[in-house]
Amino acid sequence: MAASAIELRGVNKWYDTFHVLKDINLTVASGEKVVICGPSGSGKSTVVRCINKLEPHDTGIIRVFGQEITNDPRSYSAMQGDLGMVFQQFNLFPHLSVLENLTLGPTKALGLNRKEAEERARRYLERVRIPDQADKRPSQLSGGQQQRVAIARALCMEPKVLLFDEPTSALDPEMIAEVLDVMITLAQDGMTMVVVTHEMGFARKVADKMVFMDGGEIVEQGPPDHFFTNPKSERCKTFLSQIL
Ligand code: ADP
Ligand code: MG
Repeated sequence: MAASAIELRGVNKWYDTFHVLKDINLTVASGEKVVICGPSGSGKSTVVRCINKLEPHDTGIIRVFGQEITNDPRSYSAMQGDLGMVFQQFNLFPHLSVLENLTLGPTKALGLNRKEAEERARRYLERVRIPDQADKRPSQLSGGQQQRVAIARALCMEPKVLLFDEPTSALDPEMIAEVLDVMITLAQDGMTMVVVTHEMGFARKVADKMVFMDGGEIVEQGPPDHFFTNPKSERCKTFLSQIL
């Protein structure tokens, strides 16, 4: 059997004495779309940040395509190309054009020459439906456009999995749909995705698995039809009643 794209087994993490992740078990199969939701402070960002090693974990095992990722950089340098990340705050380089934001990684980290990197960048700008914004600075774009550039930038590294941490939370309401539409297209094209979001319309459309976190724990996980119609825990019911 092929290895899972991502696997967490008994993962724990503490910030000093604060137990932020409690025995996290989660499997993401290749091609699967997993949506993580839960109240603010429940540990959603920390899970995602431990997966791509923006944060160390303390105990338990994290595997990416079967390869164990420890807190030793040698163990995760290879997998970093497998994972792309999209943040709430876009994190684009403000002093670079859109095109330069997109070509930086492929030229510096993947060794593409300028022409190859630009061709790739334009292809992914097309994919996120803003082919005509290549020469602008991020500040000249709307929030929705900036987030689509950030998605294109992640795609330019051709990752096997895309991780999203509340990609639409910083956007004005009228721009949320344009970003979600791009994410839905990626999902339909078969991308493996882990998405932290409270956009439950999106979740219903694309999620293969819903994960509900509270207080550093995965309280509940399962297929969306079950999750939305018949959540098992009171905590999950309360949460859903507040956001739906
Ligand atoms: P979520 O993304 O679900 O809102 P986070 O993973 O960001 O939650 O945070 C989980 C908990 O860990 C919160 O209580 C937060 O205050 C705490 N926390 C996050 N980052 C740090 C840090 N660097 N140091 C100490 N505590 C942190
Ligand atoms: Mg968060």
